[in-house]
Amino acid sequence: MDSKHIAALGLLAGDPSRVLTNPQVVEQLSRDFYWYSPVLRKQLDGKLGDVVVQPLSAEEIQKVLRYCYGNSIPVTARGAGTGNYGQAVPLEGGVVLDLARMDRIEQIQPDGVAVCQPGVRLGDLENEARKSGWELRCYPSTIIKASVGGFVSGGSGGIGTVAHGGLRDFQTVRALEVVTMEPEPRLMHHEGEAVHDILHAWGTNGIITRIWLALTPAVEWSQCIVAFNTFAAALDFGEKIATAPAWIKRLVTVFEWPIPSFFTPIRQHAPEGKTLIFFMIASSQLAELEAAVRRSAGVVTHSGIYPGLNARPLLSDYTWNHTTLWAMRSDGAYTYLQCGFNPDTVRDQISQLRERYGQEILFHMEFMKNGEGRVVPGAIPVVYFTTEERLNDMIEFCRKIGVFVANPHVNNVEGGGRYRPDNVQLLAKMRYDPKGLLNPGKMVTFHSESTTAGAPTK
Ligand code: FAD
Repeated sequence: MDSKHIAALGLLAGDPSRVLTNPQVVEQLSRDFYWYSPVLRKQLDGKLGDVVVQPLSAEEIQKVLRYCYGNSIPVTARGAGTGNYGQAVPLEGGVVLDLARMDRIEQIQPDGVAVCQPGVRLGDLENEARKSGWELRCYPSTIIKASVGGFVSGGSGGIGTVAHGGLRDFQTVRALEVVTMEPEPRLMHHEGEAVHDILHAWGTNGIITRIWLALTPAVEWSQCIVAFNTFAAALDFGEKIATAPAWIKRLVTVFEWPIPSFFTPIRQHAPEGKTLIFFMIASSQLAELEAAVRRSAGVVTHSGIYPGLNARPLLSDYTWNHTTLWAMRSDGAYTYLQCGFNPDTVRDQISQLRERYGQEILFHMEFMKNGEGRVVPGAIPVVYFTTEERLNDMIEFCRKIGVFVANPHVNNVEGGGRYRPDNVQLLAKMRYDPKGLLNPGKMVTFHSESTTAGAPTK
């Protein structure tokens, strides 16, 4: 990038120390966790921004975007860079807009809605909410590091989803404020159904500057690890707890052996050869859960009050997409898929996959409430990677037998499985980013010429 742009951005930010050009820093802030995927690693290694700008306010963002629009400079938003699909990796250089310093929790409203800036870390929001009797409805296992803006732009759900659904469900995201990429960037307010224009759009159609996030009344939680002799018995038990509304739970995760052998810091709680279930359950129901485990021939290998994110062990650190990280630490050839099973035929779907792929696919099940209120089995299976052809074969076979796959090995919104079929994210991009400068290359159905001809409709 021309040095005159860097100087100009320094002036616009009002503080040159928030315009970073050190090559190591720029490189670090241009990367995320795309290396989970051997396919994306090949595509994204070496992709960098030219400069990092760290705004403090929506007004500053408007100034930066006005300048970038006028000079056709791409802008890629960044929260904490924990995304898995190269979402925050700039494909065409330009400005990395690092929102980490916009980290103010503005209010926890009496009706249980948090109002905050995008750079607030989810863990800080959870801690703050609990002080007034609320907690997050759902959060990714990266809660300690990940930002609220990055979660609503690139995440989907996680711990808590078994009870409250994912981010898109049950009006969890109440409203969003976004800055547009236009000659005169506007500050737009999206609420109700209109939040879906912006949700999970990877920062391709606006920069989120304020979020209204619905919370849920806080519960005193306990953590519990349970071992079963077989995967079948563990799946039955986990499903029973996950689907019965009377159990107050935040997490029900089933890991078939040998996945628990990858969890080195808590290996003492993982008996050789057994399938484990990790629970977060209301403390008031812990004794009842333990009794139910014993009646089903399971063994409790660890249990205790959950004191918060400083818990040791922190069981959520092994669940959702943290499981893949532990597998990769054990053998770098592991990668993963993101699957949704049919609750009525899940066992048959699993056995078909096992028959075809043997130990190349290891099941790590997560239960989640869908938008219709039904708790269904999902999985982030750990997959032993050999070739791209073999991985694609597995994805195709899953789809053939009715297993939904949100493919984590593609670097665009449409390919990942959470693109809205009614095109609202694309329509918002056409309105808010006519030159296609926001995170370019990540919304592949967008062409700047398409703003007039052949435009899709809702
Ligand atoms: P980033 O990675 O910085 O950004 C994500 C996307 O949002 C990018 O496209 C970026 O451009 C865009 N963006 C960021 N801020 C803004 C903004 N203010 N305006 C517009 N666009 C913006 N995800 C889950 O959903 N559930 C899980 O349980 C989960 N577990 C994970 C476990 C591990 C070990 C890892 C590495 C990842 C996991 N993820 C999970 C993915 C990721 O951690 C989450 O999606 C997280 O919420 C992303 O937040 P972030 O702040 O790191 O976002």
